[in-house]
Amino acid sequence: MLLKKHYRRLLCSKTYQVKIKGLVIDEAHTIKIWGSTFRDSLERIGEVRSLLPSSVPVMALTATATHQLRLDLSRIIGLKNPVMIVQPPCKPNLMYKVGNFVSIEANFTPVLDNLRRERAAYSRTIIYCRTMDDCANLYLFFERGLGRDFTEPPGAPNISKFRLVDMFTSCTEMAVKNQIVTAFTTESNLRIVCATVAFGMGVDCANVRVIIHFGAPDDLESYIQETGRAGRDNLPSQAILFPKKNAMRFVNREMRAYCYNYSDCRRNLLFINMEGYKRELHSVPPDSCCDICQSNNEH
Ligand SMILES: [Zn+2]
Repeated sequence: MLLKKHYRRLLCSKTYQVKIKGLVIDEAHTIKIWGSTFRDSLERIGEVRSLLPSSVPVMALTATATHQLRLDLSRIIGLKNPVMIVQPPCKPNLMYKVGNFVSIEANFTPVLDNLRRERAAYSRTIIYCRTMDDCANLYLFFERGLGRDFTEPPGAPNISKFRLVDMFTSCTEMAVKNQIVTAFTTESNLRIVCATVAFGMGVDCANVRVIIHFGAPDDLESYIQETGRAGRDNLPSQAILFPKKNAMRFVNREMRAYCYNYSDCRRNLLFINMEGYKRELHSVPPDSCCDICQSNNEH
């Protein structure tokens, strides 16, 4: 939008040139990840920078950036000798697990049974799906499986307000999207959101306890970003991944190694390329680290 003629002229006007105090880019990793794929305008943010006086300070923020990504972002945004403040994004309260994906029924029946038993006391959970089809099938699995228990109270009208489970994709109507985000970020009955990656950015919910991935994301940076939405209140939380075989061709080498790893600490694999990460500094007790450390500890 900012690059349209009208806004370009506005940015170049005397008022803007004098009064603009800074350029802040939040979720800066999206410039690279989305910029080079389907949001070309994001990659042109450097042009916006060039329209502002050179004295205007620029700040770029992201929760996930490897060394390479930070160099790329600096180049794209046009930062010269930037001051970098780096903190690795590993959260000590998150435990990582990877399981085999068999079928929706096999993998999610335990979730459905627990939800039926615990209802509004069930841990807030986001289930990330790779496709809208997966998302819809999973949602239908919960809807059919729970029957009258799909809503709180049981038998209430099947509308967003009463559902224990809801679905959020880029095709969800804006009003419903807003309702889901509000329900998930305040006291409500909503326990599980079956979602595509459309759900998340800008959603700040303190008490999400579990993030399940139904199919692996394309890369580790996305996985770190998405699982980081659990445990924002610093209480123990879990990140569980069920890789789907037929989606592995979209996944990069590091993510594949993470999925097919049966011996190394998952936390270490996830963060080893993140600047500021040191295994000895960021390790946690085996029982709260990952399924591999936990099982090594038991034997
Ligand atoms: Zn571990």
